[in-house]
Amino acid sequence: MPNANTDLAACVAEAERHYISARPESRRLNAIAAEAMPGGNTRTILFYTPFPSVLARGSGCRVIDVDGHEYLDFLGEYSAGLYGHDEPRIRRAIEDALADGIVLGGPNRHEIELAYLLKERIPSLELLRFCNSGTEANLFAISAARTFTGRDSVLVFHHAYHGGLSSFGTVGAKINAPFPWLLGSYNEIPSALALIERSAAELAAVLIEPMQGASGCIPANAAFLQALRDSCTRHGIVLIFDEVMTSRCGPGGLQARLGIRPDMTTLGKYLGGGLAFGAFGGRREIMQLFDPSRPDALPHAGTFNNNVLAMAAGVAGLREVFTRSECERLFGLGERLREGVNELAARLGVPIVATGVGSMVGLHFHDGPISSAETFDGLPPEGKDRRGLLKKLFHLDMLEKGVYLSRRGFVSLSLPMRERETETFLTAIEEFIGERRSLLRL
Ligand code: PLP
Repeated sequence: MPNANTDLAACVAEAERHYISARPESRRLNAIAAEAMPGGNTRTILFYTPFPSVLARGSGCRVIDVDGHEYLDFLGEYSAGLYGHDEPRIRRAIEDALADGIVLGGPNRHEIELAYLLKERIPSLELLRFCNSGTEANLFAISAARTFTGRDSVLVFHHAYHGGLSSFGTVGAKINAPFPWLLGSYNEIPSALALIERSAAELAAVLIEPMQGASGCIPANAAFLQALRDSCTRHGIVLIFDEVMTSRCGPGGLQARLGIRPDMTTLGKYLGGGLAFGAFGGRREIMQLFDPSRPDALPHAGTFNNNVLAMAAGVAGLREVFTRSECERLFGLGERLREGVNELAARLGVPIVATGVGSMVGLHFHDGPISSAETFDGLPPEGKDRRGLLKKLFHLDMLEKGVYLSRRGFVSLSLPMRERETETFLTAIEEFIGERRSLLRL
């Protein structure tokens, strides 16, 4: 690895060459995959250049690729991997459910138990329903809000990610669901309130992530969320918290930690124990719309909504593994990791900032505070390019050091982790800074 190379692009190219030569099997499989799937990929976020490492297996908080490299898994399947890769209590629940039959085609006891567990934890879920992904959960919640209010539009925020069909970053809009979206600025109270005020008559819902995940783990200010809460109440607009990622931030989700109660909440990720999962719920009078015994009931279909494996794994996870105390432990571990990165960057004088809440961390090449992802929108193209190259280099270097994370700098911790793992992470970043110091400017 070069030490004093000041040419960022050349360093990235060299890191890529090294990456490629160390991963012949991943390279081979990516080429084969491309003959059957566009770009060899079936989930855009898992693609990165020159080609992604193909994973063979995982255990605890480690993953191993098909070329035999072992990594500490700091991606944590974009937060869905909360339980790690082989939590015995989750496995047992899946195996027991499997023994009773895979696709039953009727209500089952696991879904009832999981619904109660979620209601107990998140009191704003007076009634809830299951689906198969966070994407679906948001689309159903929006549709419920539109029916309930008789209004059409939905206010979301720049750079929000609410799923594959409702994504408001720099890419994605072309395939978004055709709802009449209005876009506000995250963490900007006066402009958001003015937008709501102006559009109240047509606004069915305000949909917001209490911490924007995909845009870089950028938390909403409590005052901002409270202002939205008050305004939605005043105008009869349904406030939906997308807690697909953030429900892990407290036993009652991030909403309970902040003390703000939305009208509806959407869930996903780890809550199915690591299997495909989504849920949406909230105020009784809204969710009652789905009661199939009503003559005017809203239909809610989904062959696998109550699939026994995810329901049973979800129950085991909440009942036995992700207890309130484990939730707090992991939250604290993440807070200390974030502080550790920020202290390191300050001590070594490099423009790296860690954002996030609890066990989810966003790493940015930036100097100064980040109150929304719009902070980066105004950068000149050279500044954007440089950040892109730095992210690439950081990602490749961290993989080389045995730390698996996303190219965009998303990190989520999993329950098998302890301080030992987060210390390893901090050491890897410190090494990266030492080795690449001359390149770490914006
Ligand atoms: N909402 C948020 C905040 C998310 O982070 C995601 C996924 O990353 C989704 C919704 C979509 O969930 P899924 O990938 O299960 O469709």
